[in-house]
Amino acid sequence: MALITKAPRGTQDFVPAESAKMRYIEDTLMHIGELHGFGEIRTPTFEHTELFVRSVGDTTDVVQKEMYTFEDKKGRSITLKPEGTAGAVRAALERGLLAEALPVKLSYITPCFRYEKAQAGRYREFHQFGVELFGAKSSAADAEVIGLADLALRTLGVESIKLFINSIGCPNCRPKFQQALKDYFGAHYDELCPTCQERLERNPLRILDCKEERCHELAEHAPIVLDYLCDECRDHFEELKKRLEAMGIAYEVDPTIVRGLDYYTKTVFEFKTETIGAQGTVCGGGRYDGLIELMGGQSQPAVGFGMGLERIKLVMEACGAPLPEEPRCDVCLVPLGTEASVRCSVLAESLREAGFVAETDLMERSLKAQLKYANKIGARYTMVIGDSELAAGAARLKNMDTGEEQEVPFAELEEALLRREADRLYDEIVDAQLDGE
Ligand code: ATP
Ligand code: MG
Repeated sequence: MALITKAPRGTQDFVPAESAKMRYIEDTLMHIGELHGFGEIRTPTFEHTELFVRSVGDTTDVVQKEMYTFEDKKGRSITLKPEGTAGAVRAALERGLLAEALPVKLSYITPCFRYEKAQAGRYREFHQFGVELFGAKSSAADAEVIGLADLALRTLGVESIKLFINSIGCPNCRPKFQQALKDYFGAHYDELCPTCQERLERNPLRILDCKEERCHELAEHAPIVLDYLCDECRDHFEELKKRLEAMGIAYEVDPTIVRGLDYYTKTVFEFKTETIGAQGTVCGGGRYDGLIELMGGQSQPAVGFGMGLERIKLVMEACGAPLPEEPRCDVCLVPLGTEASVRCSVLAESLREAGFVAETDLMERSLKAQLKYANKIGARYTMVIGDSELAAGAARLKNMDTGEEQEVPFAELEEALLRREADRLYDEIVDAQLDGE
């Protein structure tokens, strides 16, 4: 197929029916963020490459293999953002947000770009909902952020998702664990994939995250990070577990979770499902107490997560969670002739001003073809307007679900629709209550 009629590999279009679902997911997530006091931050789609190399870490898959990096016309190295945290931290520092009252709570919806092997649930352009909480070191902050993700997933009606948590320690206790990993994997050097052989010296923790089968098998018997935590990290982890229990949030401790990005300390977590195949991690996050200082700010603790929206939508579809359709047309005005068409346009516009989804013929169709179209777009009501209706200033409003018709003066159309809408909602509520009994 010609290049110009095919979207680049790993990207996708969202046609109106799909966008309606994505928008609902995004609105719900941002709203849950607001309920927790998170304000939206919007950062550029591209940043200086150096920002990601420094913050995400040059031993990670993201930086080594996955970034969309190019030179702009002045020869500067630019990268399309592969994740949301680095930009949010950069913006918070640049705009002095951390000098204000702490904690600073930020949320965002952003496209992310990674040059990956495209497959179901793994794309080269995808979208993330993310939150970042700066300035709080207590386990209460970890619990609040995990609670936010949990409430978001419950609100969306997502089922069969499990929370896995782990602690990967801090710069005080991690070196001992890294040495233990080096010793263990070093003894199996020849069995490691070439990438992990490289990782062994510089960042052995990453080997735990490798998706190659043999590395994964070896990782299952590797030393366990929780055995190496210092007192502070262990207390933090124990407190978090107590808090999650008190909040009624079920979790499982999984010592192999290390997260794909370098900047994490202490708590790391993932929400995973088995309902959408191999790419089952819908949300990943954790604490990154070292990142703000690494980026040139004053040392500040931080915790956050990123949630993949395409994967959320896949899970929702897989478990039959309610997803909205495109907004349904409330009323379709069906004109017969030019004069009626003008009148219908005017009427439709005033109905829209009153908040109704109103449509009228733009195709100069026959009566029959117009009614067929009204059916196709699922209009709740139709009103056929010809010369005699124009003269009378009234026409028959037809309920397309029941077939009922009633004469309504044009001047009372809004009111009539409102009354019917109220009746319909009332019936819906009564039905729902009867169902519940
Ligand atoms: P994975 O292990 O699946 O590669 P990751 O560790 O690279 O994930 P993060 O960088 O933590 O993922 O990103 C947070 C979330 O963003 C993931 O949990 C996932 O839901 C989503 N995500 C990551 N990469 C992709 C992708 N290529 N396509 C779609 N969603 C993605
Ligand atoms: Mg990845």
